[in-house]
Amino acid sequence: METVRPTAEGVTTVKLKEVRAFGTRAAEAPLESLSINRRKPAAHDVEIDILYCGVCHSDLHTARNEWHGTVYPCVPGHEIVGKVVSVGDHVKKFKAGDLAAVGCMVDSCRECDYCKEGLEQYCEEGNTGTYNSPDSHLGSHTFGGYSESIVVNEGFVLRVPENLDLAATAPLLCAGITTYSPLKHWKVGPGKKVGIVGIGGLGHMAVKIAKAMGANVTVFTTSQSKFEDAKRLGADEVVLSTDKEQMNQFRGKLHFILDAVSAQHNINTYLNLLRVDGSLVLVGAPEHPLPVAAFSLIPYRRSFAGSLIGGIAETQEMLDFCGKHNIVADIEMISMDQVNEAYERLLKGDVKYRFVIDMASLKT
Ligand code: NAP
Ligand code: ZN
Ligand code: ZN
Repeated sequence: METVRPTAEGVTTVKLKEVRAFGTRAAEAPLESLSINRRKPAAHDVEIDILYCGVCHSDLHTARNEWHGTVYPCVPGHEIVGKVVSVGDHVKKFKAGDLAAVGCMVDSCRECDYCKEGLEQYCEEGNTGTYNSPDSHLGSHTFGGYSESIVVNEGFVLRVPENLDLAATAPLLCAGITTYSPLKHWKVGPGKKVGIVGIGGLGHMAVKIAKAMGANVTVFTTSQSKFEDAKRLGADEVVLSTDKEQMNQFRGKLHFILDAVSAQHNINTYLNLLRVDGSLVLVGAPEHPLPVAAFSLIPYRRSFAGSLIGGIAETQEMLDFCGKHNIVADIEMISMDQVNEAYERLLKGDVKYRFVIDMASLKT
């Protein structure tokens, strides 16, 4: 099987391989078994047999078109770990049999200022997402990790620390880097009082990473049932965010807050917890806007910012950091056909703390 694609030099023929995947054909439809095409590895490509793939809330937002712009069929999944099965002739970093990982991006322009600085996630041309981005090789759009295998340019393939449990490492590829990057950028460390809002996939990784960076960590959760876990994950203090009295005790106390909430919530109640010059950084991406009151920001010269995943070099740095500190996600393993049920549980906050799909279940 092959497809013909236009290039700057004329046309090129791309060889294809059909692989099994799981995805959805419409925003309202459940995910189901599909077959998709992958390209045969070109000179700089790595072909990876996917062993485990994490389930990120972004997969759900995208599958259900909550951010608009989803192209169907949609095959989500951007927390990918697996084994290299073949490599192109010019690949230096990987060989067949190696463990490898792929996160939220599979390419970028590599030429703009941001790409050159290692900020490929902010590429001026737009990064190529692992799913739901234009596919410059095959002409349609990219398909993610809910699939048997994936072919990715070696520049966007990561090395996995060998001391970590492989399935529990998968969530580092999105939940890990999305929290590591802002924690590092805003210089979280010893002497800093940090708040983490929302203890789901991202939030629980943020607690572990902020603690490993040496910060004092307070968790804000809507779930009383997560109190003990929050402490076990490393939190110094835990606050029930629906309890006004508990919240008031932290007014003006925190240097930095990372908000990893997937749904509507009142951002002003958290802004009010910041000290002078404190920053609240949003990584959670709810479907609808979050209104901000001017007087949540002005009196204490506070900042309200956002952050998108992390660059490739920084993702490798985060994986190595997690290897050194023995940090992985707390996971619940599921089979591929349990993913629709897992999405419903995500909506109820009923996950401790990341679903990971055992991809062997797609093959049986
Ligand atoms: P998740 O596992 O579903 O966790 C979200 C957590 O938010 C829940 O566990 C819950 O924590 C809290 N929450 C849920 N509904 C709430 C509500 N109505 N009010 C208050 N709190 C609520 O999701 P995730 O995979 O960690 O992703 C979190 C968000 O980050 C998603 O919007 C996702 O798309 C986004 N994201 C952004 C980036 C980026 O680059 N910026 C990357 C990946 C994901 P408690 O029970 O503790 O309250
Ligand atoms: Zn994600
Ligand atoms: Zn670029």
